[in-house]
Amino acid sequence: MKVACVGGGPASLYFSIIMKRVDPSHDITVYERNPAGSTYGWGVTYWDELLQTLQALDPESGSAISESSVRWDSWVVHVRDRATVMVEHGEEGFGIGRHKLLDILAERARSLGVRIEFEREITDAGELADADLVVAGDGVNSVLRERHAGHFGPEFKVGRNTYTWLGTTKIFESFTFAFVETEHGWIWCYGYGFGKDHSTCVVECSPATWRGLGLDRANQADGLALLEKLFADILDGHPLIGRANPDGSAHWLNFRTLTNRSWYRDNLVLIGDAAHTTHYSIGAGTALALGDAIFLVNALHGGTPLQPALARYERERKSEIRSAQKAARYSAQWYESLPRYVNLPPEQMFTLLFQRRSRLLPHVPPRLYYRMGQTSEHASESLHKVKHWLGSKVSRSTPPG
Ligand SMILES: Cc1cc2nc3c(=O)[nH]c(=O)nc-3n(C[C@H](O)[C@H](O)[C@H](O)COP(=O)(O)OP(=O)(O)OC[C@H]3O[C@@H](n4cnc5c(N)ncnc54)[C@H](O)[C@@H]3O)c2cc1C
Repeated sequence: MKVACVGGGPASLYFSIIMKRVDPSHDITVYERNPAGSTYGWGVTYWDELLQTLQALDPESGSAISESSVRWDSWVVHVRDRATVMVEHGEEGFGIGRHKLLDILAERARSLGVRIEFEREITDAGELADADLVVAGDGVNSVLRERHAGHFGPEFKVGRNTYTWLGTTKIFESFTFAFVETEHGWIWCYGYGFGKDHSTCVVECSPATWRGLGLDRANQADGLALLEKLFADILDGHPLIGRANPDGSAHWLNFRTLTNRSWYRDNLVLIGDAAHTTHYSIGAGTALALGDAIFLVNALHGGTPLQPALARYERERKSEIRSAQKAARYSAQWYESLPRYVNLPPEQMFTLLFQRRSRLLPHVPPRLYYRMGQTSEHASESLHKVKHWLGSKVSRSTPPG
């Protein structure tokens, strides 16, 4: 099969690797508009389940990803002047730099015979007329999808809060949350390591806080200086590092959750962020993009012609990711409703932070929800798990005041 993959992100690259592993005779080219080695973003998180899958499907790239990742098994929550709560030895999490991940995948794809053409922008699937299959892994702003928007039916829900994706030279040993109260409302960040020299730091706040603090008007340098001051307690003197817009302004965004009515049209199929996005606060977008690649390869090798295979991919993958999409929606809403939770006693707030994917939580008074978790036999399994952690493993907890 002659395959053209548009976009050199995790989705396309992993798809090309698994396709080649299943059948080395596939003729595959990946087209990436940017030069090699240039990408956006910092580190991304993932979990053990994904690592096991990657190691099983392609041990070479799986092991390289594992060796280049940092691990943590503790979480720290700072709520300014009120509490620091630490949970140790929870589920293990992993972080890897986006650059590193893409380097590993590109190198592995090449070693399997995939051609990668950098600095090649594809704006119309018509440019790839000789391909049997065109895989649109060109990200959330997919041009290939937008050309047929009437068919794919993309729908964007824009999040209320503003966020910026930063790096720092501070190495966070634990997954670290910091909630800071200002005269204009709360601003928070979460940081996690992804390499020997850097960590990721995602900062988020409500639009009122953003404007009140002047972050909407500050240029990149002034904005970072203000954020370094606000998060001084966790940065220990390390700088925040950002990516300015071409005009020098800071790069703040509102997250857009994307869904598409349809995921394929003739021989053009969407994967990864081109097909769907999930709020960054559940750290799952890359894992889902890789999962799409795996599902698509599986559907293509099921012995059916192309159209039924793409229909199967759309049907099965859509259903598979539904729970992650819901979890991401509730998680984003939790942060949008932060004032509802942030003044609870620290351990309650911390428990509910870990429960932010719950669909029940937005509808139940937070203290009642917390008590239900303590008393109800029928409360969700995951709530019990967090309780267990808190009961046995809270290593440090400073009471309010
Ligand atoms: C703040 C933030 C934090 C995140 N943290 C995490 C995390 O911790 N864990 C996690 O799993 N996920 C995380 N994500 C999500 C993750 O980054 C994405 O879901 C993932 O990168 C999607 O992969 P993709 O290959 O579909 O698209 P992308 O990574 O966006 O790649 C698309 C590629 O296509 C190229 N391209 C675009 N248009 C064209 C064109 N016309 N021609 C050629 N090339 C083109 C682009 O240059 C790009 O390289 C986060 C996202 C954000 C915003």
